[in-house]
Amino acid sequence: METELKDKIFEKYFINCELAKNVCSDLDIKSKELTQLSNQINKERSDEIREMQRIKNLYNNKKNINKDKVKFLNFNEFYKWYISQYAKQQGKCYYCKTKEKVIATLFTKKFLSTKRTKRGHHLEVERLDSKNNEYSKTNCVLACYFCNNDKSDIFSEDEYFEYLKDRKIFFENQYKENKMIIDQETNFVYFSSLIKKDKKYLPFWERLEPILIDNNIDFRFIENTRDIWCRDYMPIQKGINDFIQFVYFPDYYIFPEYIAKLTIPSETKIIEKIHKKNSKLIIDGGNVIKSKTIAILTEKIINENSNLEPKTVLSILKKDLGVNKVYLIPKAPYDYTGHADGMIRFINENDLLVADYSNESNSWRKKMDKALEKTGLNIIPFPSEVVEEKNEDSDYTAKGIYINFAQIGNIILFPQFKLDSDGIALEKTKKLYPKCKVIPVNSNEIANDGGVLNCITWNIKK
Ligand SMILES: [Zn+2]
Repeated sequence: METELKDKIFEKYFINCELAKNVCSDLDIKSKELTQLSNQINKERSDEIREMQRIKNLYNNKKNINKDKVKFLNFNEFYKWYISQYAKQQGKCYYCKTKEKVIATLFTKKFLSTKRTKRGHHLEVERLDSKNNEYSKTNCVLACYFCNNDKSDIFSEDEYFEYLKDRKIFFENQYKENKMIIDQETNFVYFSSLIKKDKKYLPFWERLEPILIDNNIDFRFIENTRDIWCRDYMPIQKGINDFIQFVYFPDYYIFPEYIAKLTIPSETKIIEKIHKKNSKLIIDGGNVIKSKTIAILTEKIINENSNLEPKTVLSILKKDLGVNKVYLIPKAPYDYTGHADGMIRFINENDLLVADYSNESNSWRKKMDKALEKTGLNIIPFPSEVVEEKNEDSDYTAKGIYINFAQIGNIILFPQFKLDSDGIALEKTKKLYPKCKVIPVNSNEIANDGGVLNCITWNIKK
């Protein structure tokens, strides 16, 4: 009972500074009793009272300097926020996670002999959004002296976290032009380790591996994957050590019989530590066709992210990829993956290869023509052969989809399927890429499962 009464007195008399006579009448006690209990509280909770006084000064200072920006109702609300926020952050800086005590000790040691003792000993109230600059429950956290000064009003919360991870990369990314890394610039390629572990792909891998070695293509393996199509679950490279990871949740895997094949991106393992941001959009990597400044995807992303307005999807995508333009094309009628990497490919900023679609229906062709026209790009028709062949899962194979080749720097690994068009497609590619070495690779073992060389590679610039 007495503790409860003391708590009430602490709140009303100490925190809120209500008048003694009001406190007495509210709590139904005599003024003598109030004096007595207050004295006890003063002794028992002296540290807490000192801290409360300090926080009160802090609050009053903020109010004096910036009255309009303080959105806390009163000191009581601010004090309770401060205490709970401090507990939530476990007494550590919101940004660098250093304990308040550690920084306080540093200040005591460093500045004992100087006059600079005012700040640094306590976590400071830091405003996350420096544009609205409000002091409110949702906009404030506690940060150490160093982070608070450093972040100032220049960086946003996200930016400052990026900055803390690696200052050099952060600065470089701030100043670099908005240009993505393209295949031509890549110098390293990853494969899912299943490509050599899974027996059905082994003959293919035994053909490919010597080609990689002979042509000095650096390669490594991604561990903990559940299928070989690593393009889809790995992040998209934007710049040097700058990646964006989309949510990998392809609808065609969400069936009881296939779900075991769904790779979890966070479980995959590669040797390097890469710097990646997470996007909230659901997108397969194989649907992202990029040049330095443009990205083209199929409309499937609108269905995959139907919780968002199409406009919002596009604007998030533009921001996450850091491109100037995003275009959508219709998805190919019989391709259950809905990926664009069996349909189109950039040669450079102006020229777009488009796999022959003359076999599609009239209405689909019209849609595709219109979408391509919208891009304003120079369209270059590219060979493709329709193969009416289905695999064990009764899905169409990827045979004849030549445009799904892999380009790592100046080396093009070009698929061959033992089809009539193999030679024509190879020669056409050599002409289109005069500076590249175009190497034919029989890819039927992987094509049988629905993908070709772009699908099984994750090439990056290191
Ligand atoms: Zn800090």
